[in-house]
Amino acid sequence: MPSDAELEALFQDTILAHYRRPRNKGPLAGATAGALIRNPACGDEIEVQVALDPDGRLRDAKFTGQGCSIMQASASMMTEAVRGLTHADVDALGGSVSAMLEGDARPAADEQLGDLRALSAVGRFPARRQCAALPWRALAKALAHGSSEQ
Ligand code: ZN
Repeated sequence: MPSDAELEALFQDTILAHYRRPRNKGPLAGATAGALIRNPACGDEIEVQVALDPDGRLRDAKFTGQGCSIMQASASMMTEAVRGLTHADVDALGGSVSAMLEGDARPAADEQLGDLRALSAVGRFPARRQCAALPWRALAKALAHGSSEQ
């Protein structure tokens, strides 16, 4: 088992890696819905675009925007993690991330969460929780729009 300090360093490396080389950044061709959200406290701005299959499954998700490293890294991890999931599974995953940001240690120990576990390191900085949560709020809004259009 890695020590807390080792785990912390690992999580910081993961966040930095996603920030430096964000996955799924750019406009999404064939997007069926999207939502833009801002966090004035930090100057973060993100637009998440999604492509939903007719059965509501999330075929693809990408993001554009600008903001701090935590927000960008969170968006990169999120778009990786939610691809192929149903709306219900996206909601459940978002719930786990949100609990983790509030300090719940259980999601951080769940290997199925993959890189998203690194966001548990953000939980210790309350002012940054909104930055990590912003992409998830944008995704939820995009999915709400997507469903209402059907
Ligand atoms: Zn931020």
